[in-house]
Amino acid sequence: MTMPQSAVPGPAAPPDASMPRPSMMKSAPSLVTFGLSIVLLVVAVVRWPENGWAASLWLAAFLAMWVIRVPASMRVSGNRIVEARRGTSELFVLAAMFVTMMVLPLLYLSFGAFRFADYTLPAWAAVLGAVLQVPFLWLFWRSHADLGRNWSPGLEVREGHELVVRGVYARIRHPMYAALWISVLAQPLLLQNWIAGALVVPAFAALWLLRVPQEEAMMRTRFGAEYEAYAARTGRIWPS
Ligand code: SAH
Repeated sequence: MTMPQSAVPGPAAPPDASMPRPSMMKSAPSLVTFGLSIVLLVVAVVRWPENGWAASLWLAAFLAMWVIRVPASMRVSGNRIVEARRGTSELFVLAAMFVTMMVLPLLYLSFGAFRFADYTLPAWAAVLGAVLQVPFLWLFWRSHADLGRNWSPGLEVREGHELVVRGVYARIRHPMYAALWISVLAQPLLLQNWIAGALVVPAFAALWLLRVPQEEAMMRTRFGAEYEAYAARTGRIWPS
């Protein structure tokens, strides 16, 4: 399993409409990462009684996130990309997300790593973290469904890209990132550990701060006045 694919902002790469998106699962490092992730996942699932209900619920939501994302990835695999923006700083924050959202939590849950950095919150905190999984998964699913083939793992414009202004996009410009914010803020409530639970918050904050201006600039360039009008009537993360 590779990390949740997400947009990679940065300088515009030259258009390449000739090739469909390369599959991430075809390279050897991706296959190794996938294999190791599966092993960690299986061990984490088996160890759920030791990890407790809150951590196990985080794991269930993590798996549900993949159940939503894998079909979305398959749906866009044939897209032809006409513009892609990539940059080293974004790759760095994406790597930070991969580590803090997947690697550290799975090591924590499968091998009991980082237990020295545990903290204990009042009981209501884990309950709140559990409740937050409902809006997270709903919004994550709904935003993938509304974007359809216009979703992309990186910051990309596809051949025939449409500006989606319906569904959850009618009132928020970044519902998928809003969903991820909910998940990221719930993680330290369910995984009560500074390393496996809390580190994801600054990692995603960095990603958000870097990516959103890049993504909006890309959409403005592509859709012009149509995007200006859309941006004027919608909230970035909070419904207008
Ligand atoms: N920021 C959005 C989408 C994340 S996926 C959200 O949080 O919901 C990233 C890709 O979605 C970008 O590369 C861009 O091509 C595409 N995208 C973002 N907003 C869009 C919109 N309103 N319509 C169509 N595509 C959009």
